[in-house]
Amino acid sequence: MRLSQFHLRTEKETPADAEIVSHKLMLKAGMVRKLAAGLYTWSPLGLRVLRKVEAVVREEMNRAGAVEMAMPSVQPKELWEETGRWQKFGPQLLKIRDRKEQDYCFTPTAEEAVTDFARNELASYKQLPVNFYQVTTKFRDEIRPRFGVMRAREFVMKDAYSFHVSDEDLQREYRNMYDTYARIFTRLGLRFRAVFADTGAIGGSASHEFHVLADSGEDALAFSEGSDYAANVELAEAVSPGERPAAAETLRKVDTPVQKTCEDVAALLGIALQRTVKSVALMGVDAEGGPQFVLALVRGDHVVNEIKLAKLPGLADYRLATEAEILEHLGAEPGFLGPLNARRKIRVVADRSVAAMADFVVGANENGFHLAGVNWGRDLPEPDETADIRNVVAGDPSPDGKGVLGLARGIEVGHVFALGRRYSEAMQCTVLDENGKAVHPAMGCYGIGVSRIVAAAIEQNHDDAGVVWPEPMAPWRAAVCIINPKGNADVSAAAESLYRELNDAGIETVLDDRGLRPGPMFADIELIGIPHRIVVSERGLAAGTFEYRARSASESENLDRESLLSRLR
Ligand code: ATP
Ligand code: MG
Ligand code: MG
Ligand code: MG
Repeated sequence: MRLSQFHLRTEKETPADAEIVSHKLMLKAGMVRKLAAGLYTWSPLGLRVLRKVEAVVREEMNRAGAVEMAMPSVQPKELWEETGRWQKFGPQLLKIRDRKEQDYCFTPTAEEAVTDFARNELASYKQLPVNFYQVTTKFRDEIRPRFGVMRAREFVMKDAYSFHVSDEDLQREYRNMYDTYARIFTRLGLRFRAVFADTGAIGGSASHEFHVLADSGEDALAFSEGSDYAANVELAEAVSPGERPAAAETLRKVDTPVQKTCEDVAALLGIALQRTVKSVALMGVDAEGGPQFVLALVRGDHVVNEIKLAKLPGLADYRLATEAEILEHLGAEPGFLGPLNARRKIRVVADRSVAAMADFVVGANENGFHLAGVNWGRDLPEPDETADIRNVVAGDPSPDGKGVLGLARGIEVGHVFALGRRYSEAMQCTVLDENGKAVHPAMGCYGIGVSRIVAAAIEQNHDDAGVVWPEPMAPWRAAVCIINPKGNADVSAAAESLYRELNDAGIETVLDDRGLRPGPMFADIELIGIPHRIVVSERGLAAGTFEYRARSASESENLDRESLLSRLR
């Protein structure tokens, strides 16, 4: 590609309305342009990066044995009513009416559509296991679209759905997908962590999220450096003062049970605290008068700070408690609220009337134990499955007691769910097993936020000059820059021939033949994050060398053709 024939439009000024670095740099580099709230046009430059991510995702999904297909973006209401999600998905579901007054939605995820496909296509256990995937546009009417493509309303997701005769086989594929995700994010050059997660509106029995680690991440993760333990602290995201009006609206909605989502509970806590809640640990207390909750703000790995008692539902009884009161309430000694060093997961239903549930991490310290809540959900077990706070949910890992619980921020880029039979049962999807008996296949579903990855990668890989792409995501691996292309025909010819040679050698290279002055030209090439820059100039040509600089290096080197090629191969 020649930049003179491409469309590259960078900006010098940092856009005022962008809050986080990836959003700023994507706008400055001209990768995306906003069409409306949460809706972005991908420029030719941005699209090249998006396609790179897609390619890695496809390659690894194919390698893992999944098969690609494509389902419609617009889906009929009747299908979504079969699983109850026409209602349950809530206001994120964009509903559309056609000229015949029929209702449709724009797909936010495709469990219904794929289960419909499966019930028509799959008849026998012999066709299983199978894992269908697609890379398509999804729409979610996010309450607060922000940070550009990071939390957009329209975005690109890879979603996969697997079907199995047995739970054991589902577990095998879940593990296969877990490993595949780890390979994908490793190949993309991202620093990430897999954590236990809430099963949320999608439902199911087990789930892990994959997070790219970044301080700007919307999720808080609790993990232990000394062991395998890691979980998403879903409650971490709450309201900032500017967002209180929206939160107050949420609070009103909380009165209707189905609205009690993780986000709502977090908003509610934010309002109650009258402050921004950054990292939250919830401590569950099994008081006689019904479940009560103690909220502690966490700083680092210490549970200290302001502590409040919350009595759900209803905030009438919500009041500030002193640390001494909390200790008394728990019957604990001073110092009890120290760092956690051992943990296990339990489930507690916070409020039977709304079936809001929390997964808790139980952290032990030398003073006994206390609880740090990690997840809230609402598609929850029947009330009689309500756990006593001391009950450990079967199948949860047993605590290993290693390490100290730490907190980090993360960006959710992938999510794997063991769904079980929830969708196959609701939609009467069956296959004949070995004995000729009709059985509902067990299902898994596996999502990757393809477009979000582009932004998440920038959060981790940038400097003052712009993006520093990990090579597999870069729009081009190398740029050949011509100094004064019109001024010296030999320089242009040398640059052209190098450009061709590099591409022929499989090194995807762009030629900067726009004739910009060196300063602005180099600034662009750095801003858009090309990993390798080669400058062809009159002086270099005379010396038989090219000026080479890696994007991550601070100095240039003069290399002859051979050394340059071997450097880039
Ligand atoms: P989040 O917690 O960030 O709202 P989610 O848990 O609702 O995400 P999933 O239903 O797990 O999302 O969808 C799979 C993946 O799709 C997510 O892991 C994320 O990477 C991506 N994704 C979800 N919502 C958005 C969005 N609004 N914009 C961009 N990517 C998104
Ligand atoms: Mg979401
Ligand atoms: Mg999530
Ligand atoms: Mg998720």
